[in-house]
Amino acid sequence: MKNRSFHRIACLIFCLLLIGACQSGGGENAEVATASMETTALPSLAGKKVLLVHGGWPGHKPALFAEIANELLEKAGAEVMLVDSVEVYANEEVMSQMDLIIQSVTMDKISKEQIKGLAKAVKAGVGFAGAHGGFCDSFRNNTEYQFMTGAQFVAHPGGQVEYTVNISKTKDAITAGLSDFNTKTEQYYLHVDPNVKVLATTTFTGEHAEWIDGAVMPVVWKKYHGDGRIFCIALGHKPEEFREEMAQQLLMNGLRWASGSKYEDKEEWLSPVYQ
Ligand SMILES: [Zn+2]
Repeated sequence: MKNRSFHRIACLIFCLLLIGACQSGGGENAEVATASMETTALPSLAGKKVLLVHGGWPGHKPALFAEIANELLEKAGAEVMLVDSVEVYANEEVMSQMDLIIQSVTMDKISKEQIKGLAKAVKAGVGFAGAHGGFCDSFRNNTEYQFMTGAQFVAHPGGQVEYTVNISKTKDAITAGLSDFNTKTEQYYLHVDPNVKVLATTTFTGEHAEWIDGAVMPVVWKKYHGDGRIFCIALGHKPEEFREEMAQQLLMNGLRWASGSKYEDKEEWLSPVYQ
């Protein structure tokens, strides 16, 4: 009798353990499935046609930004067309052939024909990306341009300061596997479009403007304008920052994502900032 009871209890314990293992295994699988739904592979830049445009305020060393970006893009196998004027935006034939436009033009001016050409190409599915003031502080008097970028620079309290970049979306392909890091550059205070998907943030201390103490600000974001994928990283007052590992990885991942508008399904999101 004793042996039989022992056998029954042992069986019961074994079954309970088995059920527990199955449940925890199912939980893990469910998590992996959710993550893989959001983390799709980034498109390759190999063979992609990229227009790299530099110009504007010389303080941001736009030619150096273009040189660094060009090196990285060619290493990734992209076909790069490097130009030093936004006049190219009015050239419909060139614009329609592109997969991605990267711009480093701080402030400066854009003509009606040029903004019309740029917006038309982007709406039709050409990606548009850039960094810092060369992308989110261009053509200050042009609201049609600002409608595309997702955010507009308004201040950098304290100038170049040390701060942490927090990766806020770890399930997006652009930021998957990346960790928070510290940097020293301008901490951009931006006016932000609520329809952007924020991928990394920074928090202001209030040291240089006490009323923004604790304000959380996007540093990296993505969005759509028409069918075109838009990507921006607010780092890069000095273009050399993109020779450093984390900033370079974020930039290149974003450029890869933005280059895929013509080839990949449109991602859907609705007012993500309010969710
Ligand atoms: Zn700057």
